[in-house]
Amino acid sequence: MPKQIISYKAEQFTESVIREMTRQANLYGAINLSQGFPDFSAPEEIKLAASDAIMSDINQYAITWGAKNFRNAIAEKSSWYLGMEVDPEREITVTCGSTEAMIAAMMAIVNPGDEVIVFEPFYENYGPDAILSGATPKYVTLYAPDWHFDEDELARAFNDNTKAIIINTPNNPTGKVFSREELQQIADLCHKWNVIAITDEIYEHILFNDKKHIAIATLDGMRERTITINGLSKTYSVTGWRVGYTIAPPEITSAIRKVHDFLTVGAAAPLQEAGAHALRLPRSYYDKLASDYFMRRERILSVLKDVGFKCFDPDGAYYVMTDISAFGYDDDLEFARFLVKEIGVAVVPGSSFYHDPKLGSRQVRFTFCKRDETLAAAEERLRQLKSLAG
Ligand code: GLN
Repeated sequence: MPKQIISYKAEQFTESVIREMTRQANLYGAINLSQGFPDFSAPEEIKLAASDAIMSDINQYAITWGAKNFRNAIAEKSSWYLGMEVDPEREITVTCGSTEAMIAAMMAIVNPGDEVIVFEPFYENYGPDAILSGATPKYVTLYAPDWHFDEDELARAFNDNTKAIIINTPNNPTGKVFSREELQQIADLCHKWNVIAITDEIYEHILFNDKKHIAIATLDGMRERTITINGLSKTYSVTGWRVGYTIAPPEITSAIRKVHDFLTVGAAAPLQEAGAHALRLPRSYYDKLASDYFMRRERILSVLKDVGFKCFDPDGAYYVMTDISAFGYDDDLEFARFLVKEIGVAVVPGSSFYHDPKLGSRQVRFTFCKRDETLAAAEERLRQLKSLAG
């Protein structure tokens, strides 16, 4: 028998389609509206805070679960923004991005046979996260155009084997912002079945149409069964810094800290210092962030609609899911390939957000976390599609 070199786990998933699209954008010289990272500068003062930290020799390991100053800043911000009181000594773990936060959280709580509920479409990492942690994913549909879920369908997804439910609000890729009523329905089921909520709130400040961000941990009785995940990437436009964190009750935090310690030891120490500075920026910073994103949202929606995409207008985050039916393609991958090669704009094929590729075969996702010039250049190229739309 030839030896099986590659692990069964690693064999079960492919490399990230999102990250691959960025490489294709570079290969074809396309405007990159695929992977969600800003192409504009991070705020000057947090860049200075990072350089200062390096120059003042904060260059060795921070405490494995996070520098004290940064954890204190996380607790302060969670208090004013989320209305959530957090003990920085026992309830916070700083990780290498929210990506590590999610896998560390899953590995800290999942046992063989455990099921984890995932709303679909979902951010593609959650699939491999489930495989790597050994969880069995159960999908609950978010229905377009408003991406609501069916309460009965959700209730049916819960059973004695359910360990956790993953929530991502504001949501990638749909732009859905979960309402208090929806979160309460989820919370009720978590109580009924003794389930942990793992909530990825990385887009918490990118909100439109007067939507409010609600952390499920702040609902009655949810604090002790919620792992809240966040990070610096999106709010401060520093996706390459890889600084994220979890907030969870002490017992779960101890488990997350152990997993985190042996996975990565810790996140970059000087960037945690800069992060402490970032999290203490005045509230006006967050208002401007949201209003700048609103302008970009308006801009991309108007051009996409004009050239023939059906758009699902986002209430939050910085993506637009679109329906491509008008262009005569049945296959999102083929359409994305055509866009990147012939039109010169890279997007993410819809199928990468579904467990069954067919479900996303008529969709592609655009991101709009880009400079005006980038959006203008994309606009010009996308105009070529106009003649194609039926
Ligand atoms: N969250 C971003 C996206 O969906 C990118 C994340 C990543 O590539 N690590 O595009």
